[in-house]
Amino acid sequence: TSATRVPPPAELRAAALRALRACGVPEEALQARAGAAGLPAVTCLNGEELLRLPAAGAGDVERVVAAADEAFRTWRTTPAPVRGGLVKRLGRLLAERKEDLADLVALEAGKIRSEALGEVQEMVDVCDFAVGLSRQLYGRTMPSERPGHRLMETWHPLGVVGVISAFNFPVAVWSWNTAIALVCGDAVVWKPSEKTPLTALACSALLARAIADTAAPQGLHGLLLGDRAVGEALVDSPRVALVSATGSTRMGREVGPRVAARFGRSLLELGGNNAAVVAPSADLDLATRAIVFAAAGTAGQRCTTLRRLIVHTSVAEPLLERLVAAYRRLPIGSPLDPAVLVGPLVDASSGDRFDEALRRARAAGGEVLAGGGRREVEGAPGGCYVEPAIVRMPAQADVVREETFAPILYVLTYEGFEEAIALHNDVPQGLSSGIFTADQREAERFLAADGSDCGIVNVNIGTSGAEIGGAFGGEKETGGGRESGSDAWKAYMRRATNTVNSSGQLLLAQDVTFL
Ligand code: NAD
Repeated sequence: TSATRVPPPAELRAAALRALRACGVPEEALQARAGAAGLPAVTCLNGEELLRLPAAGAGDVERVVAAADEAFRTWRTTPAPVRGGLVKRLGRLLAERKEDLADLVALEAGKIRSEALGEVQEMVDVCDFAVGLSRQLYGRTMPSERPGHRLMETWHPLGVVGVISAFNFPVAVWSWNTAIALVCGDAVVWKPSEKTPLTALACSALLARAIADTAAPQGLHGLLLGDRAVGEALVDSPRVALVSATGSTRMGREVGPRVAARFGRSLLELGGNNAAVVAPSADLDLATRAIVFAAAGTAGQRCTTLRRLIVHTSVAEPLLERLVAAYRRLPIGSPLDPAVLVGPLVDASSGDRFDEALRRARAAGGEVLAGGGRREVEGAPGGCYVEPAIVRMPAQADVVREETFAPILYVLTYEGFEEAIALHNDVPQGLSSGIFTADQREAERFLAADGSDCGIVNVNIGTSGAEIGGAFGGEKETGGGRESGSDAWKAYMRRATNTVNSSGQLLLAQDVTFL
């Protein structure tokens, strides 16, 4: 039994209501209509229902998308730096309500304080980034082959962006999409995870206020609380130009073809199965700290969580000794307790998948070196608290090649560097990766075209905890999408290529003659 305890349900409910009201969520959004089934807002701290919210129906999807489409028609001709003004206001409001938003992230997603605050900070950061971007959105000019002609490209707003988000980054992923889409001149309709509706209500209320404060068109942001069926209706809506969907590979497999069938655009951010290589020259103390954060942090529920460790045989024993010692000391319990580093899994079925993966790993010859059990946490009989596990595997068995969204770190060993890279890439997913080494040749090789095949490739740092300035996303079954920084904004705009003739003559390209 852990020393930490979860506060009683009434206290959690009061905390949620306080935060929601501080963010300006209207009372009518907090209670399902009498007789309606509604959407339960559950806290994973104890598995209890906090509130029963009004849920969207299929008819609401078209209404909200139509309003967004109408707002888009005004917004697309609003100058981009003026659009940046809205996002600047949003960033300020998010910063002002940082503590309240972090409370909600902790209650719904089970994040510890520092990570919950970090997730809110990520929203503020991406707003800053987007405000700067609103004075950029650069197109290129190219030399024309014809005299007196100019060739250039112009980036225009795309339309309504449908954002479908996962439970584990309940607010950051929304902000990556929304802050960028808004400066790009798009409208946004958000279908958050059914496991995190409260954080969504709070963010949506703050954006509504920013829209009102800056006299931006109403309808520019719509919120649809509901389950998968609401997501499906959004995906199929012909007026949604881009569907940006974050979640499991299973979800992406359904969403991708449906959007493609109507020639819509999709941006998919799906599951990962991230690995780190630990080479003989690695700084083992640094690697240990990085590995424990990446593998056990957020209770293993980040898309970038470290799930596979590929260690050179010469350093396997000393590294595992350090890791096992660190895992034994990990404080597990209520994420509201400042001493805790590992909070709960999101629900009981996640716990079942944790148990099942460990059973399969043992059956494939795996040896559990640390953790793997359940923890009872006082005041939370309905919460799902597990001990992060380290499992030494004889080979990269099927269970290792799958993403189990829970804290299990599989350890494999290697002799030759080529073998390490081959093991690293031999999984269906391609999100994040890292190498710990002091050997520059190894580091460069890992970064090279024949090195890691992931979208995120790090050196001497773990797989999780990306900054917003870079483009975020991965290859293969991770879906290929890129969000947040760098030039990820281009996915939210349409490109027009323009040829302008000021020569006074009609000259055809490639010297073609006609008429
Ligand atoms: P999930 O796939 O169960 O749900 C994600 C969202 O998709 C939810 O809003 C859900 O309602 C919706 N959805 C599910 N099926 C749908 C369908 N057929 N049509 C439309 N919408 C549908 O995922 P989850 O359990 O909330 O999140 C965990 C998963 O998300 C993990 O696999 C994790 O790796 C992944 N993830 C990826 C990234 C990334 O950026 N690559 C980031 C966070 C999470």
